[in-house]
Amino acid sequence: MTPKIDRQHVAQALRGAYDRVKNTTGGKNADYIPYLANVPSTLFGIAACLTDGTVVAVGDTEYRFGIESVSKVPTALLAMQQYGAQEVLDRIGADATGLPFNSIIAILLENDHPSTPLVNAGAISACSLIKPVGDRDGKWQSILRFVEALCGAQVGVIDELYRSESETNFNNRSIAWLLKNYNRIYDDPDLSLDLYTRQCSIGITAKELATLAATIAAGGRNPVTGEEVFRAELTPKITAMMATVGFYEHTGDWLFTTGLPAKTGVGGGIMGVVPGVMGVAAFAPPLDSAGNSVKAQRALADIAAQLGLNLFDAPRAAVREAQAAKA
Ligand code: GLU
Repeated sequence: MTPKIDRQHVAQALRGAYDRVKNTTGGKNADYIPYLANVPSTLFGIAACLTDGTVVAVGDTEYRFGIESVSKVPTALLAMQQYGAQEVLDRIGADATGLPFNSIIAILLENDHPSTPLVNAGAISACSLIKPVGDRDGKWQSILRFVEALCGAQVGVIDELYRSESETNFNNRSIAWLLKNYNRIYDDPDLSLDLYTRQCSIGITAKELATLAATIAAGGRNPVTGEEVFRAELTPKITAMMATVGFYEHTGDWLFTTGLPAKTGVGGGIMGVVPGVMGVAAFAPPLDSAGNSVKAQRALADIAAQLGLNLFDAPRAAVREAQAAKA
């Protein structure tokens, strides 16, 4: 349905987007986590990974930045892999809150109604569900190994970011205990919050993030390493969640503009998934008011338009193809 996409097309699209977006100004680094305020704000990189394993990159794609909220995607997937999609829907949900990512009001308003693992409350709740592996620090090992399998690389926590975040995450502490109050957390709140904080502090490159997205696009099989990481039936579930709430309260505008399921993080990274086709990631620290990278979102929107990646446009392409075949 989507146009033929190969290395050459993708390389051209990435280079074009990079050149058009690189001089964009506006936005500012997240400053509520001190570490993030000090990341050089001129960094900018874009990477794509096709479902055949081809990786294309331009700009600062080897720099390890804080994955932040993009980490909510792997943990939601892991919870669905361990419990099944329906149980995660029942215990956490898949609804947009329409409110900021760290909203307390959303919990108060929806205390009898589940939300989504892609905002802070649901993500802390998802961390609380994760089943451990190995015999030490089992829940964390489970999350970390899963992220590594998805992106096909060894990743680790940026210690300074983890410290910086742990020392300042008062709002998230309130969320964890409020969830406890409403029986929406399934393990110790402090432990679950610590897992969440650690996963947000994982350092990742744009190339690794693109590969992570490509593993989702490829139905759970990492196209670079060949490892089967999760069940293919979960790709439409996680992409539906990303499409619903991946840009927080700007998600509708984003989806309307691009038709691309994507997830952002306050570290400046954004990853997009085109099921069956490719994963794409961009990174640039300055953020807009909702916490989405200004340059990264422009770059992904540019690439989506150039390559015809709008999922909702697939019927038009299918009709064109059918008509051409008949003629
Ligand atoms: N660790 C950050 C927080 O919970 C992640 C937020 C984000 O990337 O949206 O505040």
